[in-house]
Amino acid sequence: RSDVNDVRVVMTAERKAPTLIAIGSGKGGVGKSTLTANLAIALARQGIRTGLVDADVYGPSQQVIFDAEDAKPDARDNRMIPVETKFGVRMLSMGQLVAPGRAIAWRGPMVGNALAQMIDAHWDAEDVILIDLPPGTGDVQLTMVQKYKPAGAILVSTPQDLALIDAARAGQFFDAAAVPVIGLVENMAGYACPHCGEVSDPFGKGGVEAAAQRLELPFLGRIPLDLAIRQGSDAGEPPAAGDSAQAEPFLSIAGKLAA
Ligand code: ADP
Repeated sequence: RSDVNDVRVVMTAERKAPTLIAIGSGKGGVGKSTLTANLAIALARQGIRTGLVDADVYGPSQQVIFDAEDAKPDARDNRMIPVETKFGVRMLSMGQLVAPGRAIAWRGPMVGNALAQMIDAHWDAEDVILIDLPPGTGDVQLTMVQKYKPAGAILVSTPQDLALIDAARAGQFFDAAAVPVIGLVENMAGYACPHCGEVSDPFGKGGVEAAAQRLELPFLGRIPLDLAIRQGSDAGEPPAAGDSAQAEPFLSIAGKLAA
């Protein structure tokens, strides 16, 4: 087992290539893409040159969150050049490799190829690259851990039991591949009232932190279910880029990685 400190060392040590950190979840819809985008922006705000690869083949969404839907990556020497975004994070997304709105029905080797192109791109300026994985433990994840061996993985879950069981499975997957799990993040942890900001807990609270304890993994933080987070993501205005209260949990998690 590793902890945040191990990855921190990797990030600040002399390095030739950027540190890869995979963001995974057991199932979809738990906020993995939202966390990846906002964490990347929060890291960049703390002076860490951060890139993002959206490897979620089944539902790439980063180009929407980053307001970069029309951006198409250029290439140099047969390698893609990541697209600049207005949030200080360069990115490449599966969504930029296909026509907008087209469903992606690729076979395994094509997916592996697209992943390779995005990771072997011109990332020379970045300290760290966050990789938004598809949910679960399928082909893309397997290629990712076997071929590129990320320095660590962060797992996102909602507080409910089912999501937690899936997250624990995803944890075992990274364990088996000898990729250290940096820690767990609880998303949609309580509901932030859009009027007064008070957080209540319709789904219970602390489930992910308790699971982290059980699994002997670091708990990195919790992000409330907040209408402003959803609206910001859809509008291409990720909250971590601003100074609202919604930026806070993302900056705090980034602080733990970047200290
Ligand atoms: P995943 O990548 O796990 O499939 P997404 O990040 O796409 O999940 O999130 C699913 C939906 O939930 C999106 O519409 C997103 O804006 C919304 N969402 C994610 N996290 C939160 C949150 N903390 N509060 C409100 N909405 C959220």
